[in-house]
Amino acid sequence: VIDIRHLNKSFGNHEVLRDVNFSVAKGEVVCLIGSSGSGKSTLLRCINLLETPTGGEIIYNGENILDKDHDVSKHRTHLGMVFQSFNLFNNHNVLKNCVVGQQKVLKRSKQEAEKNALKFLEIVGMDKYINAKPSQLSGGQKQRVAIARALSMDPDVMLFDEPTSALDPEMVGEVLKVMRRLADEGNTMLIVTHEMEFAKEVADRIVFMDKGVIVEEGPPSQVLVNPVHDRTKEFLKRTL
Ligand code: ATP
Ligand code: MG
Repeated sequence: VIDIRHLNKSFGNHEVLRDVNFSVAKGEVVCLIGSSGSGKSTLLRCINLLETPTGGEIIYNGENILDKDHDVSKHRTHLGMVFQSFNLFNNHNVLKNCVVGQQKVLKRSKQEAEKNALKFLEIVGMDKYINAKPSQLSGGQKQRVAIARALSMDPDVMLFDEPTSALDPEMVGEVLKVMRRLADEGNTMLIVTHEMEFAKEVADRIVFMDKGVIVEEGPPSQVLVNPVHDRTKEFLKRTL
């Protein structure tokens, strides 16, 4: 689905991504790990064009999304994005949060959008809260709504940027449980996470980044258990 070739990104003369090559196949769950400042968020933001890369190619379903005439808003409809800070519309209730995008962007009828939203709110266990405002929800509940909202747009790929790192510890589990289910159901997912146990269980592949470079990638049994590179070993020692 996503094929990244020789991707570079600099802010001024600070090189944040250097010659990044990697791909995500349909149905694959890829966890991106690495220390703070290594460029993980920037890479996700390049994929949905919230950042413009300084060089390289991002091929999405066969098309280079960096081509000048590529339709950015259409591209974004293929991607479901879940951030660390929920980003819900605070003035809308739970159901409406999951409906407005479908109506505005996908031109779905209210009825159709609500039906679809309810399906995903049920999957994340938030169908009982459709009339609640975000301010009435816990962090874990908000994040589950954010996931349902992203899923309601029927994305090809779900991108998660540290979806649990802003949560109180007791709420991390409920969000990871939802994500585990999505992974089991065959969704294509690219997840930036510090939850190593979770990554070990759900990822088909782990990608370790350090200082803007992909140092090592492979199945969890390799990268997390028997890493080849010293930098990976050091990182894991610090996180465990
Ligand atoms: P974390 O684990 O803390 O979220 P990260 O791996 O996601 O870290 P990024 O947020 O991608 O790291 O940042 C990589 C580097 O790029 C950092 O040094 C950061 O300061 C820099 N950076 C990110 N966004 C910008 C920006 N808009 N302007 C300038 N520098 C930026
Ligand atoms: Mg980040």
